[in-house]
Amino acid sequence: MELRYFDSHTHAHFPAYGTEQDAVAARAAAIGVGMITVGTRKDTSAAAVAFAERHKNVWAAVGVHPGHAIESFHDEDELGVPTEPNRKALGESFDRSFFTELAKSKKVVAVGECGLDYFRLAEDEEKREAQKRKQREEFIAQLHFARDIGKPLMIHCRDAYRDLAEILAENRMEHTEHPGIIHFFSGSEEEAKPFLDMGFYFTFGGAITFPQKKGGADYASLIKVMPVERILSETDAPWVAPVPYRGTRNEAAYVVEVVKKIAEIRGISEDIIRKKILENTIAAFNVRI
Ligand SMILES: [Zn+2]
Repeated sequence: MELRYFDSHTHAHFPAYGTEQDAVAARAAAIGVGMITVGTRKDTSAAAVAFAERHKNVWAAVGVHPGHAIESFHDEDELGVPTEPNRKALGESFDRSFFTELAKSKKVVAVGECGLDYFRLAEDEEKREAQKRKQREEFIAQLHFARDIGKPLMIHCRDAYRDLAEILAENRMEHTEHPGIIHFFSGSEEEAKPFLDMGFYFTFGGAITFPQKKGGADYASLIKVMPVERILSETDAPWVAPVPYRGTRNEAAYVVEVVKKIAEIRGISEDIIRKKILENTIAAFNVRI
């Protein structure tokens, strides 16, 4: 199989695809798209590994999403129809022995998605601080795990870049030149700086194909100044489908549109940026094709 594109962050194994999960991997393979399908809790991480084991063009990341480190919203696209009586997913703690077993698969190339997410915290000040502390604890546990098993981090961060940079500066991923990726980066150039200095990669997805929102992230400016060797492409499917699929269920094959947009913003040929991104991805995750 010749890989041409890479979707560095996707959820092809999620219930959102119903019985079409294998078809999603096959449609991607047909046009040379490789992908990392990402777990968010114990159950979805185990499913990610099983899925990756079945498909040549799929690798996996395993970990606990910061939103699941605390009592979180139940998204049926992610978790399927909830079992009564609990519609809310309960907070999970990082189970090191469970993830040690999962990470034995050769298909596991990263730890995550893990990180910080301050977007949906409790209203109550005290509860909010406790939630932040819990997310921080779970993230650090996974960072140490990644360090111990020699894998990069797949980081999810929303509204918390300052705290994230602080944790990473205090807990260096010193064993490697490729400490991980900041997925769906939506911060400013200034916010990107500490992560660039520490060697992190940045993935961009469907949001870069949308018209810029007032007060929203300025992806075009950021992508223009970002060192090209740190840029990766993703879909975060089933969410955030790029133009021209905007508003429909996203899938890994659509990463082609993201690469097209990055080429347009950088003002270089699509083929050059496509090859560069592929090369970056292989380095970032030590993917063995
Ligand atoms: Zn994700």
